[in-house]
Amino acid sequence: MRYERPDTIQDATALLANADANSFVLAGGTDLLVRMQNDDFEADIIVDIKSIAGMNEVTQTDDAFVIGAAVPSAALSENAPLCAAWPGVVEAANLIGSTQIQGRCTMVGNLCNASPAADSVPALVAADARVRIAGPSGTREAAVIDIPTGPGKTSLQTGEIIEALVLPAPRSSSGDAYLRFIPRTEMDIAVVGVGVHLALDQSGAISAARIALGAVGPTVVLVEEAANAVIGTRLEKDALDALAAACSAASNPINDKRGTVAFRKQVAGVLARRAVQTAYTRAGGK
Ligand SMILES: Cc1cc2nc3c(=O)[nH]c(=O)nc-3n(C[C@H](O)[C@H](O)[C@H](O)COP(=O)(O)OP(=O)(O)OC[C@H]3O[C@@H](n4cnc5c(N)ncnc54)[C@H](O)[C@@H]3O)c2cc1C
Repeated sequence: MRYERPDTIQDATALLANADANSFVLAGGTDLLVRMQNDDFEADIIVDIKSIAGMNEVTQTDDAFVIGAAVPSAALSENAPLCAAWPGVVEAANLIGSTQIQGRCTMVGNLCNASPAADSVPALVAADARVRIAGPSGTREAAVIDIPTGPGKTSLQTGEIIEALVLPAPRSSSGDAYLRFIPRTEMDIAVVGVGVHLALDQSGAISAARIALGAVGPTVVLVEEAANAVIGTRLEKDALDALAAACSAASNPINDKRGTVAFRKQVAGVLARRAVQTAYTRAGGK
């Protein structure tokens, strides 16, 4: 196995471009190295992206936060403007594993590992985040929701690397939140995860909403019916009931020892109610 640590994105994509080699990007390694240790696969080339310029930085522009693909979760909570703008995204990233894991793991690694239960992905989808992708034939952008295509599978092509996550600058009077249910207090995989982003109009009513569910389908489910249930409301009881019902109905989870289908569907509704109320308060709603 070759280990490479290139300094440029061009060198990195060139190393990954050989379709016959079993090659992998290495960010924090908290999924990749565990899988290698478990002998899940034989790797020919491992391309460590942590020395590439910009990969370890969070930059703020007028209209976005650009988070380099190698920025670990722990660094996000130290970025005050990001925490103020996107507290739900940061709290999702800071639920991953433990303090030790968060010192290494990245949101882009969480996304590209394509686990249906990945914690940061519903929060990023609710935020309408995008990714910048570099590949052998140039760069492109894609919505986060379009990257995972099924458990362990992504839409990335041979040689492509995600360079950065792009979170839009939040509009005024908006807020986000992420909640998950796990059977233990930490170090467990989400049985259900819910990401919410809301914006309010001047009267305090909800003018826009994105509600994304994790761990209840092969990929994140963006529930338009749930958004429609709360738009135009101030989260009165009827709106919350309709939101919960829409989230339960949109859930299509597996049945396993950590949760039955019926349990997961119910929890999706319960967590959506709670997450939407947190996002509403963060947006300035009363
Ligand atoms: C003890 C433990 C606890 C955990 N707890 C949680 C948890 O609570 N919630 C949760 O969601 N996850 C959890 N995880 C899983 C893991 O920590 C996360 O998925 C993490 O975010 C992966 O990020 P990474 O940078 O370490 O990814 P890596 O392991 O470096 O990479 C993961 C995958 O993504 C690919 N990849 C990485 N970066 C890029 C890129 N820039 N472009 C293209 N492909 C890329 C890699 O090739 C690999 O296939 C846990 C893992 C462990 C070991």
